[in-house]
Amino acid sequence: MYTSLQLRVTPDIAYDDARLRSHVSQQLQVPASAIHALRLQRRSIDARQRTIFVNLTLEVWLDEDPPEYTFTPIQYPSVTNAPQAVVVGAGPGGLFAALRLIEAGIKPVVLERGRNVRDRKRDIARISREHIVDAESNYSFGEGGAGAYSDGKLYTRSKKRGNVDRILRIFCQHGASTDILADAHPHIGTDRLPGIIEAMRRTIIDCGGEVYFEHRVDALILKGDLVAGVVTQNGKEFQGPVILATGHSARDVYRYLRKSGIEIEQKGIAVGVRLEHPSALIDQIQYHRREGRGKYLPAAEYSMVQQVEGRGVYSFCMCPGGFVVPAASGPGQVVVNGMSPSHRGSKWSNSGMVVETRPEDLDDGLKNFLVEAMNDSEFADSHSDIDDASNPLRMMYLQEALERATWIQGGRRQTAPAQRMADFVNGRLSDSLPSTSYIPGLIPSPLHFWMPKFVTQRLQEGFRAFGRKSRNFLTNEAILIASETRTSAPVRILRHDENLQHVRIAGLFPCGEGAGYAGGIVSAAIDGERCAEALAEWLRR
Ligand SMILES: Cc1cc2nc3c(=O)[nH]c(=O)nc-3n(C[C@H](O)[C@H](O)[C@H](O)COP(=O)(O)OP(=O)(O)OC[C@H]3O[C@@H](n4cnc5c(N)ncnc54)[C@H](O)[C@@H]3O)c2cc1C
Repeated sequence: MYTSLQLRVTPDIAYDDARLRSHVSQQLQVPASAIHALRLQRRSIDARQRTIFVNLTLEVWLDEDPPEYTFTPIQYPSVTNAPQAVVVGAGPGGLFAALRLIEAGIKPVVLERGRNVRDRKRDIARISREHIVDAESNYSFGEGGAGAYSDGKLYTRSKKRGNVDRILRIFCQHGASTDILADAHPHIGTDRLPGIIEAMRRTIIDCGGEVYFEHRVDALILKGDLVAGVVTQNGKEFQGPVILATGHSARDVYRYLRKSGIEIEQKGIAVGVRLEHPSALIDQIQYHRREGRGKYLPAAEYSMVQQVEGRGVYSFCMCPGGFVVPAASGPGQVVVNGMSPSHRGSKWSNSGMVVETRPEDLDDGLKNFLVEAMNDSEFADSHSDIDDASNPLRMMYLQEALERATWIQGGRRQTAPAQRMADFVNGRLSDSLPSTSYIPGLIPSPLHFWMPKFVTQRLQEGFRAFGRKSRNFLTNEAILIASETRTSAPVRILRHDENLQHVRIAGLFPCGEGAGYAGGIVSAAIDGERCAEALAEWLRR
C-alpha cells in the first residue's frame, strides 16, 4: 500500500533515518517492519520560532516495494544522419539545448571555447595558486559554463513547475541524486556537478552529436539577414542555424555583435561585494539559538533586501558553508563569486551584496567613476563611447571598470581588496582582516573610498537596515570582499517573444543568461530547451 504523509518534526527526527522511520510507524500506527520505503518529496525548515521544525512531505510504501525510478528516463534517438544545428557554448543553456535538439531529431554540433570540465579544474586551481587567469578556461569559460564550479543550487523563480521538474529529471538521468526532485531547495554541489556534465556530453556524442572544446566562435556566417553558420578562432567553419548560448562573460561576443550591427541593447545589472561571515555566526542568527545548527541541521541560509534611494540593495547567490572564489575571466580583473560543496561544511557563509544599477545611472551617479576608469590606457573601448546613451555596451564598461579598479587596488594580482563590515559602514580602514575562505588572499582596503559612491552609500545604508532586522548580522567579524559584478548580463540580444529568433537575423537563437533571458542554472537550462524547440519548429517550416 502507498500513502503520502505530511509531517512537522524536530531536526533530530527529520535528518535521522531510523528516528524518522520510527516516527512514521507511530503516526500510521503500523509496525516499523511494515514500512518498506520512505521517500522524501519536500523538505523545508521553519526556524521562525525558538523550537525549529522541519516540514516534510513523504511517500510511504507499506508492505510493498516502491517503483525503481521516480522519473522515466528520456530515450534519446540517434541523430548521426540528421540535419545539424550549431550550439555555441556548453553551459547549462547550450547543453540542455543540445539534448533537446536530439529529442527533436536534430544533430547538435556544440562549440565551446574552454576546456573540458576535468582539465578546466587545473586552470581554475592556477588562478588561486599562481594568480594566472587563462582567458579561455576559468570559472566562467569551459565545459559546464559558469555553473560547473558553482554551488549547483537549483532553485529558480520560474513558476512553470513542469519545466523545472523536467530539468531536474534530466540532471537525475545523468547522475544527480533523486533527492533534488524532493528538496524545496535542491542543491547538487560543486564536487558532483562535473561528473553530471560529462555524462550529458556522453549522451550527446553517443547519439551522434559533436562536441568540440577550445573552439571559440569569433563570427557568424551571414547571408543577408540569415545566419548560415559560424567561424571559429582558427578559421574553421560549421554550418547550420545557431543557438548562441555564450553566457554573460563573453564580452568579445557582445563587442562582435555591436561591431556587426546585430541588434543588442544595454540592460541593468547589480554590482557590489561578497560578504563573508563565520558560518557559526549565521547559524546562531538564523536558527535563533546559541548552539547554532547543532548536530542535525544544515548550514543556515539568509536572504536580505532593502530599498535605498530608489534602488534595491540585496543578497545574491547565498552560499552557506561555502567559499569565496576568484571568478575573473581574463587578466587585469578581480571578480569574486561564491560556491559551496554538497556538504556545505566550510567555516564560512557568504553571499553577494549588490546594488541595482540602471543604464540611466551612468549619466548621473556613476559617470565620474566610469570616466576615470576609461582614462586608463588599457581600457578596451574609446572614451567617447560612455557619452553615447545609445551605446549598448555601457553597462558592460561599468563591470569592466569596477573589476579593473579592484585588480589595481588588490596589488595587480588575484589578491582581493577587503574591509571589515562595520568598518565599511562607519567609513574606517580595517587594520587587520579575519581569516577567509578566499584562497588567493585579501588586502585591507578602504572600499568605501575608492568604489563608486553610488554603490557604497547604498550598501552602507542597506547593511544598517539588515543589522536592525537581524541582530549581530552587522559585525566586524564579517568582511566585504571586492568586487561582485557578474550577477547578470549587462546586454540583451534582442529576440522575438514567440519564435525566439533574433529580431532581424533568421536562424539565430540568442539563448540563456548571456542573451539576457535567464539567471541561474535552471532558468538557463529551460531557455536552452525552449530555443531548441523553437529551432526545430523553424526547420520543420
Ligand atoms: C562561481 C559561480 C557560482 C554560481 N552559483 C550558482 C548556483 O549555485 N546556482 C545557479 O543557479 N547559478 C549559479 N551561478 C550562475 C550560473 O552558473 C549561470 O546562471 C548559468 O551557468 C548560465 O548558463 P548559460 O548556459 O546561459 O551561460 P554560461 O554558463 O555562462 O555558459 C556559457 C558558455 O559559453 C562559452 N562561450 C563563451 N563565449 C564563447 C564563444 N565565443 N565560443 C564558444 N564558446 C563560448 C563559455 O565558455 C561557457 O562555457 C553561478 C555562477 C558562478 C560564476
